[in-house]
Amino acid sequence: MDSENLKEKLFNKKKNGWINLDSKENENINKFAQNYINFLNEGKTEREIIKISTKIARENGFKSIEDFETLKKGDKVYFVNKGKSMYLAVIGENDISDGINIIGSHADSPRLDLKPNPLYEDTELAFLKTQYYGGIKRYQWTNVPLSIHGVISKTNGETIEVNIGEDDNDPIFTVPDLLIHLSKEQLKKTLDDGITGEDLNLLIGSIPFDDKTSESVKLNILNILNKKYGITEADFLSSELELVPSFKARSLGFDGGLIAGYGQDDKVCVFTSLSAMMKINNPKTTAVCIISDKEEIGSMGNTGMESNIFDTFIAEILNKMNINKPNLLDKVFCNSRMLSADVTSGINPLFPQVYERNNAARISYGLGLSKYTGGRGKSGSSDANAEFIAKIRKLFESNKIPYQITELGKIDAGGGATISYILANKGIDVIDCGVPVLSMHSPYEITSKFDVYCAYVAYTAFWQE
Ligand code: MN
Ligand code: MN
Repeated sequence: MDSENLKEKLFNKKKNGWINLDSKENENINKFAQNYINFLNEGKTEREIIKISTKIARENGFKSIEDFETLKKGDKVYFVNKGKSMYLAVIGENDISDGINIIGSHADSPRLDLKPNPLYEDTELAFLKTQYYGGIKRYQWTNVPLSIHGVISKTNGETIEVNIGEDDNDPIFTVPDLLIHLSKEQLKKTLDDGITGEDLNLLIGSIPFDDKTSESVKLNILNILNKKYGITEADFLSSELELVPSFKARSLGFDGGLIAGYGQDDKVCVFTSLSAMMKINNPKTTAVCIISDKEEIGSMGNTGMESNIFDTFIAEILNKMNINKPNLLDKVFCNSRMLSADVTSGINPLFPQVYERNNAARISYGLGLSKYTGGRGKSGSSDANAEFIAKIRKLFESNKIPYQITELGKIDAGGGATISYILANKGIDVIDCGVPVLSMHSPYEITSKFDVYCAYVAYTAFWQE
């Protein structure tokens, strides 16, 4: 055998996914990308994503678990938890004690939240104080158009939904950074402290109510909000208002190969796994889809993956199948498999110094799998078992699904975590498996349409096998 043939046989070859695509595949990729772009534009917060996902599930024959007396093979069921997280399942043919196949993503993305007492006036301009949610480079969130999304709950039990800044006729809001002309001192600071958390105040108004009182611009804003929503300043105390970039997701590049959009971490995995779930009929193994919340702040709280609500959902399925008994839930989990569907970093060639090229994901090279995440020596990571990875490799290779098994970046450059360790703690075999992203956690994240489609195909194969 000559060296070229031997190389062909022995080397682990990686290839740009756009090479040698046929026109049908190209069409499928672009059609799927357009649906994904629409999804990103319709849902920018966890509450909005859960609402849209519930609608999609119901249109595809899923019913809420409380609408089932009993569950049997082939049934499609979901549970929405406090409007912020949800779980879906298609009951499989095999004995459920042999395990379930889970794909889990998260619908929350980094953003700015309002503080409980946000409103103030300074120099006849009105502002809202914010507290950032998740890991952000704070300077990136100044001077970008921001929308206000969320809810205000009143003491009379009424909850008002707010969504301002998305419609072209809506106003937008922004955090005004310092002009370059007076930035001599600011520019001496590091990127980390050039803009502090307390600098992230949102400009929301400038016109006084009249000239007879102090804080007249603030008064005018409250008067507008009172007329529009029937609220007073105190109602901010029981609100959840999130500031997200107003700009729309869209194609990027002359060739249209990339997608730029807010919140792709991790709505790209929500959309691809949910789309796959909608296609699953009569699987051998029960297929379960998780759309979690609070991942970006450590998965805590009663809508985060650390809560027991997911266990309760699976236990309720066992109840409604009339097979539940002590320890069955533990047994189900110990025999289960999971793709923790979360994004990884693609190599950003503007910053090559943080990537180790043998082990970093490349844009358009397919789905990115991470055997482990964490930082500083795999700390905080659930290192996937070799035997499980071999099974996933076999699944992807037999279905010709392009994938790359990678690390986030160089060992001591930083790190990150996902929900994988939480499920692994239950005894489930888990590997992180998602789409490579550029500029993760920025207001405008970038993915490849090819990789997005790969995620959808891979998730479908995992559930339908
Ligand atoms: Mn994520
Ligand atoms: Mn993230």
